[in-house]
Order: sequence, then structure tokens, then C-alpha cells
Amino acid sequence: MIGPEDIGGVHIKYLHHCRRQLWLYSRGFRPEHLSELVQYGQAVHDTSYTRMSPIDLGGARLDHIDGDLWVHEVKSSGKPTAADRAQAIHYCHRLRALGIPARGAILHYHKTRRTHRIPYDPSAHDHQARTDITTALDTITQPSPAPRLARHRCHGCSYLDYCWNP
Ligand code: SF4
Repeated sequence: MIGPEDIGGVHIKYLHHCRRQLWLYSRGFRPEHLSELVQYGQAVHDTSYTRMSPIDLGGARLDHIDGDLWVHEVKSSGKPTAADRAQAIHYCHRLRALGIPARGAILHYHKTRRTHRIPYDPSAHDHQARTDITTALDTITQPSPAPRLARHRCHGCSYLDYCWNP
């Protein structure tokens, strides 16, 4: 049975993008290898930011943490989303729970070569991170998936075929 410690960054990202996506992912349905966009994202990670050292936190795996305790995450998309921000806050929260006082996250957007900095604010982000974990667990343990999003919000999702061409 999945517990709070098992909730990782991908769970949180999917929670904020689409709860149906989170439910499918948590049930082990992983058609990511079919998605050209996901393959593109992996290639960006592998070739563009070679000095980053991924950190495995068990349930979560982040791209890099620097000597000033800023988390770095590489994004193959062009601009920040609420899901990106929630994922970054989740990683900082996880690190701080381990006694590593992460100062925040820097998101690197490959397409635009821009960065987006999110200082960690414990008074707001601790509560948000805990709420996200609880909501993700609640979503995952539902007997059936959430309804689909509107079709235009599904762009780039690995589950497009599953949801729209059954
Ligand atoms: S295709 Fe759309 S509705 Fe289906 S999981 Fe992806 S985002 Fe959600």
C-alpha cells in the first residue's frame, strides 16, 4: 500500500496537471516510452545539463542540488507551470524533512534557456507540500480514475491514446 513517503515529484506534478494522469501512473500504467515528448525530455536531461548530479530521495528523485542548497530541475518545456512549481516545492520539503535546509528551487527551461527561481517559504510551502501529499494519496486510492480534462489541456500527456482513442 502506498504511503506518504512514497509520494514523489512525478506524483505531485501529475496531481497538479491532471488527477486522472496521477491515478493511471500510480496504478503502474506507464506508456511514457510511447511518447515522443517524454523521450525528448529525457534527451534534454542527458545531453544539455551534463554537470548535474541526480539525487535519489527514495520516493522522489531530483536533478541536482548545488553547494548553496538550491534544488535544480531541468524542464524540456518553455515556461513555468503550477505543476512545475508544486513539484519543486515538494522536493525542497522532502530535503528539509531530511535535515537539509534547501533554500528553494531553480527551474531550467531548455526551450527558452530561461530560469525560474522559487525561494522556499516554510510558512506557506510546508503546508502546501503536506496538503499535496495528502491529496495525492486520496486521489490514488480512489477506486476509479478522475474524469478526463478538456481535450485541449491534454497536450503532451503520455496517456492521450488511452484517454481519447480507447
Ligand atoms: S490525456 Fe488528458 S485526461 Fe487523460 S490523463 Fe492525460 S491529461 Fe488527463
